[in-house]
Amino acid sequence: MNYTELAPAYVRGIAPYQPGKPISEVARELGLAEKDIIKLASNENPLGCGEKAKAAMRKAIEEAHLYPDGSAYELKAALAKKWQVPIEAIVIGNGSNDLLDYVAMAYLAPGVSAVYGQHCFAVYPITTQARGATGIKVPAKAYGNDLDAMLAAIRADTRVLFLANPNNPTGTFTPYPEIHAFLKKVPENVIVVLDEAYNEFLPHALRIDTTAWLKEFPNLVLTRTFCKIYGLAGLRCGYMLANPQVCDMVNRVRAPFNVNSIALAAAVAALGDDEFVTRTFENNRLGMQQLVDGVTALGLQHIPSFGNFVTVDVGNGPAVFNALLKRGVIVRPIVGYELPKHVRVTVGLPHENARFLAALREALAEVAQASMKD
Ligand SMILES: *Cc1c(COP(=O)(O)O)cnc(C)c1O
Repeated sequence: MNYTELAPAYVRGIAPYQPGKPISEVARELGLAEKDIIKLASNENPLGCGEKAKAAMRKAIEEAHLYPDGSAYELKAALAKKWQVPIEAIVIGNGSNDLLDYVAMAYLAPGVSAVYGQHCFAVYPITTQARGATGIKVPAKAYGNDLDAMLAAIRADTRVLFLANPNNPTGTFTPYPEIHAFLKKVPENVIVVLDEAYNEFLPHALRIDTTAWLKEFPNLVLTRTFCKIYGLAGLRCGYMLANPQVCDMVNRVRAPFNVNSIALAAAVAALGDDEFVTRTFENNRLGMQQLVDGVTALGLQHIPSFGNFVTVDVGNGPAVFNALLKRGVIVRPIVGYELPKHVRVTVGLPHENARFLAALREALAEVAQASMKD
C-alpha cells in the first residue's frame, strides 16, 4: 500500500510549511553551543513574555488535569470588554493559525476558490489547498498586496480572501482608508480575513480601531494573536472577531478543546499587561531603527516594515542565510515566498541586532568571495 497515493491529490500537492530553524537543531547540526546561538527567525518577542502572564501560567498548572473551558469564556469576556463586541462575535484559536484553518474548513471546499497575495503568509495557500479549494495568487505591487488586482481576481466561486496587514514576510502595510474602500467593493458573499497578527506594532499615528468595521462589513473576519507582541508563541493562542453567523460556522468545525488551559489563563493576564506591551513596542521601534541603519550602512536595500521584522535584499538569500547560520545567527530565508534575494530578520534585543549586523557583514563578504570563485 502506498500511503502517499492514498491521500487526495490536493493534499499530496501541499508544499509543507517551513518553520524557522530551532536553536537546538542548529546547535546539533553545526556543533555550536546553544547559548552562542541567537534566533531572529520567527518573529518571536525578544523580551520573552510578561510577568503577569507567567504568574497566571504557574497558577494554571495546578489545574492541568482538568479539560480547559472549551468555550474560553473568561478570555472571550475580557476581549468583549476590550473591543466592545458581543461574546458571540469572538472565537479563540490555538494560535491565530488555527482560526485561519477553521475559516477555511467552514467555507472552502473543492469547487470554490480563495484569493491571496503573492508574498502572503504561507498558511493561506496551505489551508486553501488542504480543503481541495483553488488558490488564486495575485501578483504583488511594490512587495505589498495589490488591492485592485485582488478585487479583480475575485471570481463567482470565491468564498474567502486572505489579507495580512501588516503583511508577513514583507512587512508592508496598506493604509486603512485604502482597506476600507476595498472592503466596500468586495462582494458580500466573499469572507475577507484581515489578518492583524502585527497590529500592535503599528506606529500610533497609523492606527485605527478596525474592530469598529465589523458592524459595517458582515463578511469581515479580523484575526489577532497572543503569539507576537504578547510573547506567548509557545503556548499558541489567538482570536478572531467576526459576524456571529461566521463564528457559529467556525465553532462547528472547531475542535472542542482547541486551546489549552495554560494558554487561556496566560492570554487573559497578557491582555491586561499594558506595561509589557509598551515595553515590547519600544524595544521594537528602537531595534527596527538599529537594523535599518545597520543594513543601510552595509549598502543593502530593505522593504520598509511595519511589523517586528525586516526583510532585506542580500542578493542571495539562501547563501547568506547559511553563512549567518555558521556564525550562530538564525534568520529566515524566504525563497518559498518568491523572495530568493531576501532574508527576513526579526527585531531582537539591542545586542542581538548588533550581533546580526556584524555577522551579516562577514556573511556578505564570504558569499561574495565564494561567487567569485565560481
Ligand atoms: C505569526 C503570524 C500569524 C499567527 O500566528 P499564530 O502564532 O498562529 O497566532 C498569523 N498571520 C501572520 C501573517 C503571521 O505572521
